[in-house]
Amino acid sequence: MNNSITRFAPSPSGLLHVGNVRTALLNFLVSKRSNGKFILRIDDTDQDRSKNKYIDSIKENLNWLGLKYDECYQQSNRIKLYDEAFDILKAKGLIYPCFETPDELDKKRKRLITRRMPPVYDRAALKLEQDEIKSLLDSGKKPYWRFKLSSKKVKFKDLIRGDINVDLAAQSDPVIKREDGNYLYNLPSVVDDIDMKITHIIRGEDHITNSGIQIEIFNALDANIPIFGHNSLLVSENGEPFSKRNAAASIEQLKEKGIDPNAVNSLNASIGSSVDIEAYESLDLLADKFEISSLSKSPARYSNNQLDKLNSQLISNYDFDQISQLIKDKNNVFDEEFWDCIKQNITTLSEVSDWIRILNEPIKGDFNIEENFLIVAQDLLPNEPWDSKTWDEWISKLKEKTQNKGKELFMPIRLALTGKKNGPELNKLILLMGYNKVMERLKRK
Ligand code: GLU
Repeated sequence: MNNSITRFAPSPSGLLHVGNVRTALLNFLVSKRSNGKFILRIDDTDQDRSKNKYIDSIKENLNWLGLKYDECYQQSNRIKLYDEAFDILKAKGLIYPCFETPDELDKKRKRLITRRMPPVYDRAALKLEQDEIKSLLDSGKKPYWRFKLSSKKVKFKDLIRGDINVDLAAQSDPVIKREDGNYLYNLPSVVDDIDMKITHIIRGEDHITNSGIQIEIFNALDANIPIFGHNSLLVSENGEPFSKRNAAASIEQLKEKGIDPNAVNSLNASIGSSVDIEAYESLDLLADKFEISSLSKSPARYSNNQLDKLNSQLISNYDFDQISQLIKDKNNVFDEEFWDCIKQNITTLSEVSDWIRILNEPIKGDFNIEENFLIVAQDLLPNEPWDSKTWDEWISKLKEKTQNKGKELFMPIRLALTGKKNGPELNKLILLMGYNKVMERLKRK
């Protein structure tokens, strides 16, 4: 593959979720591996559903994930190109005006379904004579327009799914332009793919039929056909498809949770593929390993647990410089010692902030800790200066005096110092806190 030009073409009608950005990532990686170009194309011909706030968030999300695009276009600025292509196809007799109302179309569809026939448009409008069309237009009726499919079987080789056959006889002639003059998806998509010299179209398997239709439009416009790859759709943990309106799986939400973008990319590149899921620290490393042919045809199941696992692997390997760029610490307590202490115990970046708070703000919550035990612990707490042996000294005296062992010995201290049952090693933690804070917390102030 040389200099592949790919594109990610979201409609700005909702927030991006992990499934959307998986498609973006695959396109990005295919172009990156071949020293090509990755284009962001905003498919916003549907004016009613497209919103600027979603365009902004798409760009922000891609940026956060490091999926840097080389060029960006918005379809609403390119209508002239679609008009030109429309005229060419019309002149070739491949686009025809139709006049049915949505209600009439619905009735036709239902009639076919009742007769157990595929609900394919009957091409009634194709049978209209020129004078009939003229009088409909003269009477003020506005047409909508369909592209005339050939009724052939379209064959193509898919990068992920191998040989594909789309039977166009089973499809309705697609509506190209609506009565209000707005274009629907298929024509602008093909026109842009031609104009932008797209070499590879990687998109979800829900577009396989569209690809069959679009190949006919590419041919009708005398253009080269790009290479297609249809990735299987990502499903949620309970097997449901992700939706743009489901904020729980949105990139915004992962960001808020403190997930590292490299964890999302690592998961998305290997989920639903034959390769092991591994944590990659950068897109460069990922691109070196990535093979689109390793993706499988079966649905890819997203897993929060897997994402958390990758995230904690990535985060714990960060050196202090890398992590401190990602942490907002208004208390200025986050330093190298702090990071060394907590890094094995966190899954997400927001947990770093939790630990900053735990160490600096009073602990909330009522814990059932034996008061006498804490009093003995206070008595035996060594005086400063402290070093790496202080914890052992303290705890062995405490063990001797209280006869407590194992969990009974550590857990009350952990709870008193942090308010949590789990966390970083206490021998390091007390050094971060220092005598006064440890004493304060043993006194449960
Ligand atoms: N706007 C379409 C979508 O979001 C683009 C599909 C394509 O990649 O052509 O599904």
